[in-house]
Amino acid sequence: MGSLERGVLTGFICRLCSDMHRVVLHIYGDEGIRMCISEKINRHLSINVSVPSDPLPKTICKTCLEKLESQHRLVMRIEQAAIMVKRQCHNRVGLRRDCYVSRYDNDSNVPPKPPAPK
Ligand SMILES: [Zn+2]
Repeated sequence: MGSLERGVLTGFICRLCSDMHRVVLHIYGDEGIRMCISEKINRHLSINVSVPSDPLPKTICKTCLEKLESQHRLVMRIEQAAIMVKRQCHNRVGLRRDCYVSRYDNDSNVPPKPPAPK
């Protein structure tokens, strides 16, 4: 997360929680732009802040910023993991080994054993 010392304003309403805070970060200030705050809000939350000229607050409080950054890290981690899983599965299919797909064809609730390696 970026530094809140730079680009902070005092005494503004947070765009996300609507509470008045003594210290906020301006979404379209230098630090807010550097941290891609509007892009992260638009991507991870169900609101849109892409219009700097709208009448709504342009600031975000420290608590909401930390939650937004946490959400961003979580999504990045999930996306990286999905890419790795897809890559691993692709490699397995490419080598035609260790890729075993089955389904339960009987009523015993016991999964069938995978075929023996060749
Ligand atoms: Zn807030």
